[in-house]
Amino acid sequence: MGDMTAPAAARRVLLAAPRGYCAGVDRAVIAVEKALEQYGAPVYVRHEIVHNKYVVQTLEKKGAIFVEETAEVPEGSIVMFSAHGVAPVVHDEAAGRNLATIDATCPLVTKVHKEAVRFADEDYDILLIGHEGHEEVIGTSGEAPDHITLVDGPEDVAGVEVRDPSKVVWLSQTTLSVDETMETVDALKEKFPQLISPPSDDICYATQNRQLAVKQMGAEADLVIVVGSRNSSNSKRLVEVAIGAGARTSYLVDSADEIEEAWLEGVSTVGVTSGASVPEVLVDGVLEWLAQRGFEDVETVKAAEESIIFSLPKELRRDLRAEAAALVEKRGGNLPDA
Ligand code: SF4
Repeated sequence: MGDMTAPAAARRVLLAAPRGYCAGVDRAVIAVEKALEQYGAPVYVRHEIVHNKYVVQTLEKKGAIFVEETAEVPEGSIVMFSAHGVAPVVHDEAAGRNLATIDATCPLVTKVHKEAVRFADEDYDILLIGHEGHEEVIGTSGEAPDHITLVDGPEDVAGVEVRDPSKVVWLSQTTLSVDETMETVDALKEKFPQLISPPSDDICYATQNRQLAVKQMGAEADLVIVVGSRNSSNSKRLVEVAIGAGARTSYLVDSADEIEEAWLEGVSTVGVTSGASVPEVLVDGVLEWLAQRGFEDVETVKAAEESIIFSLPKELRRDLRAEAAALVEKRGGNLPDA
């Protein structure tokens, strides 16, 4: 340590705000915890509830069982769908296996599903900008498979074909790079001048705000450490945005254990941020690791205020309320109207 790094007086950390949990992730994680309390273990969860190793392992210890497909869930059990959303066919499969479902799809993903259904009903060709194989893209595509074509970046545009160039709309995955998406849209518009845009942003507020904060710190940071898992789309985008904003290097780490001493060589300013599925305890670990190496001066770079909260999935709210009502009734009272 020490020799190759900047003098202690020059070492500082820029800490991005906002960072970490978004409203959709917070809701999904609390939903699994509440379901475990309400129904007891195990509660099956289709796919990782959010793309973060630490969160998944913590919930596993509490009794959640993560499966890849609904077919792996024993008949009659409870299954929760992850924040990334699922295609209608998955709901059908669950009904076919007599599973009780709790849908923790983020409401902002559901919004994109509804847009897809509406434009498909109006017989538009929908160009869905997103990453091939990502769960959210699979779920959204499943809403209107005959109308949706996936466009995975500007390099895909040349090969895109539509039935009627005067009736085309683009939609997107919620966790993309804002700048790269606009590049893809520009290329699509050149090819299809009558392309229409979604009624409101599909890239969600949390993705946009986290990218904005990293852009602000990127120009000043020699190194940007992004806390997040490798399968987390929005975390990976933060690394790209940091480098695009001028950071000399940027790395994605699941936790402080993955940081390498060599990354600090010649570094005086370290930027720190975290993806939307990352609990703050993991960022604390990174800040501690840096402080032990002389990076104790922490300055917050604030790009936006966030106050969005989503209510729990409706199935869970219904059962929690029914339980509360039964308890109150037992005591001779009545629950006020919701
Ligand atoms: S990143 Fe955005 S779309 Fe995804 S869960 Fe969070 S708020 Fe919802």
